[in-house]
Amino acid sequence: MSKTSQRIEARTSILGEGMLIRRALPSREQRMIGAWCFLDHAGPVDVSQGEGMRVGPHPHIGLQTFSWLIEGEVLHRDSLGYEQLLRPGQVNLMTAGQGISHSEESPAQRPPTLHLAQLWIALPDSHRHSVPAFQHYPDLPIFAAGGFTATLLVGELNQHVSPVAVHSPLLGLDLSATTAASAVIPLRADFEYGVLVLEGNVEITEATQSEALASGTLLYLPPGQTKLDLHCKAAARVLLIGGTPFEENVLLWWNFVGRTRDEIAAATATWNGRTGADTVFGDVPGYVGSALVAPAVPTEIRSSR
Ligand code: MN
Repeated sequence: MSKTSQRIEARTSILGEGMLIRRALPSREQRMIGAWCFLDHAGPVDVSQGEGMRVGPHPHIGLQTFSWLIEGEVLHRDSLGYEQLLRPGQVNLMTAGQGISHSEESPAQRPPTLHLAQLWIALPDSHRHSVPAFQHYPDLPIFAAGGFTATLLVGELNQHVSPVAVHSPLLGLDLSATTAASAVIPLRADFEYGVLVLEGNVEITEATQSEALASGTLLYLPPGQTKLDLHCKAAARVLLIGGTPFEENVLLWWNFVGRTRDEIAAATATWNGRTGADTVFGDVPGYVGSALVAPAVPTEIRSSR
């Protein structure tokens, strides 16, 4: 039976110390889209009062964290010693590989509004035990796509190539319009896709039917489609992600991506039992506040396939 497009309602969750976010992946209906295995949409939210975003030091294995900043500022610090301010239009990519830890916070002096998308990319078996790395991408390809302004976050589209280094066939595309706009985006038939509205409302035309899509709903498109027909009647912003269906069976628990429960239990024990001499996850210099504690690993972790 061939899959059809499906609407997935993002669920609200709390990020770090009290910031409300919408989590579109993983969901009950769809665990992954290509190698994209996690998608949080945060804001736009007023962070002028209080502490703003604060996510204390925590570990990752087996994935890349991908942060796309739309508005505001976020300060990244990690156990490799990187301290990087992320600004609108920029991407931070952290490759956890065999293990890394990091923190994310609103800087003390900051713009009042924060708006970002945070995603994880599962690393294929060939790369998931690699040494950790961090890259900051201040400039991404920007071009007109119909009436939208397209920013190519990951992958290739038309003649454009994103510099963001990933290890699976993937697409990440931000489409924004300040007024009514239409675009037809070419899709690869071997990719599956997800469309998430970040601002405003859009209409997606599939076959002969136009359907409204609002913020908080992820539209899943199975492989076999060759174009995305997109319209908005007023200012809007959309995130399009895609990739070839990920063939490996992935287990995702807390901040870890692995293949077996034992592997995830070992990472949990290493993080929670670490000492100053830990060489797997290191520590995050400069963050004022406590590290996160990994929760107990359940008997069974739901797999991606
Ligand atoms: Mn993280």
